[in-house]
Amino acid sequence: MLEVIGVHKSFGSNEVLKGVDIQINKGDVVVILGPSGSGKTTLLRCINFLETADQGKVMLGDTELDLNAASRKQIHEVRQKIAFVFQNYNLFNNKTALENVTEGLIIGRKIPRKEANDIGKKALDKVGLSDKYDAYPSELSGGQQQRVGIARAVSLNPSIILFDEPTSALDPEWVGEVLTVMKNIAEEGTTMLVVTHEMSFAKEVANKVIFMDAGVVVEEGTSEEIFNRPKEERTQQFLRRVL
Ligand code: ADP
Repeated sequence: MLEVIGVHKSFGSNEVLKGVDIQINKGDVVVILGPSGSGKTTLLRCINFLETADQGKVMLGDTELDLNAASRKQIHEVRQKIAFVFQNYNLFNNKTALENVTEGLIIGRKIPRKEANDIGKKALDKVGLSDKYDAYPSELSGGQQQRVGIARAVSLNPSIILFDEPTSALDPEWVGEVLTVMKNIAEEGTTMLVVTHEMSFAKEVANKVIFMDAGVVVEEGTSEEIFNRPKEERTQQFLRRVL
């Protein structure tokens, strides 16, 4: 459903991605693990054109896109199909939870406000925020704000949701509720690509785990294979450190 082919990206002389390939099937929950600085976030941002890759392609269904040379129109179309959940939520502070969710539907999708409100309320209900439609981000906990971010992604009914370290900015007390929401939407069959340091989520929810180090995919497999029988020395070392 989503194929990422040969992604290269440098920042100045720092070559961060050295030819990364990834394949994701419909309904997959793929977790990318790896040490800090290995290029995980940059990869996610390149796939959604938040960064321009130096080289690489994406196949999304039947559509092929050049990650280095897509038109504005193509980028707009990709963002209709690929939703993004940010580490720091990226909510508008002057908009309510519901307005944050409906903004993309009204402006990006041209859906009439009334219909957008219905879709937005359903998405907020799904993440357990039925009583917070009218709350502003400053009135919400970190966990609740990130759940608004997830509701915003879900409301777009995308082909896939990319999660960029969705719990790493949260106080520990809020991590569990966000992971639970992510697990629930995974169980509904949502296709997800998740960068996270939460090993329990990777073990329990992912059907595929990719281990990245220094800008390359070192190893990939089922979560059972990666956690119980990692083949590569670098994967073994990483797991020894974090588990
Ligand atoms: P990870 O998500 O695995 O921790 P990142 O993709 O965030 O890794 O970062 C990989 C490398 O790219 C790091 O060395 C980081 O400093 C560098 N990097 C990321 N974004 C930028 C940027 N906008 N400008 C310059 N360097 C960057």
